[in-house]
Amino acid sequence: MRITDNRYRGEIDRFDLAVRLIRHEARTGTIRRFTGFTEDRIRKLYGAYFKSVAGEQILRRRGKSPRQIARFVNSTCRHTEATLLACLCRLCHAFKLTDRQRAKRINSLDDVVLGTRLCDAFETYQRLCPSPQFSFEWTWNLYHALVETRELYFSWCDTCHGPYIQDTYALDYRRCPLCEQKALLSRTA
Ligand SMILES: [Zn+2]
Repeated sequence: MRITDNRYRGEIDRFDLAVRLIRHEARTGTIRRFTGFTEDRIRKLYGAYFKSVAGEQILRRRGKSPRQIARFVNSTCRHTEATLLACLCRLCHAFKLTDRQRAKRINSLDDVVLGTRLCDAFETYQRLCPSPQFSFEWTWNLYHALVETRELYFSWCDTCHGPYIQDTYALDYRRCPLCEQKALLSRTA
């Protein structure tokens, strides 16, 4: 492949990713971070492809991405979905797990590939959960909390041996949200 072909392919990949991110209502800053596009180019893309589509409501969001982690673990439903989303990010190779099962950045990934893999994980999650609790921005926040700040980590349930995400600064009872729910129900039955 010639250099110009590579550049062309790279530009197509960036464009495709930007369109996917706009469709997922990612914030302008997030789209810029993954694609390197200017705010002006993102605005034009949004105007050209989404503003005039009849029946389609795509919001253009600005401001900062969410950075709190409580939302991932403060209800059984969200905790289960956040665990599913984290597992999908891992399966789509957005990050890897170390020998100690900690999420770790894949250094060879460039921003476009990372963004594309997070979109793959998020779109699979949307197909699996008819009323998803988390947006793409929250998927990006989940990645950030697992890989960058390590405020969340993967733990393994002593009852079903499945993985779940755990708040680093909270007590880990080694029970996934589903087994926790079952235990609660059996205590109240
Ligand atoms: Zn379990």
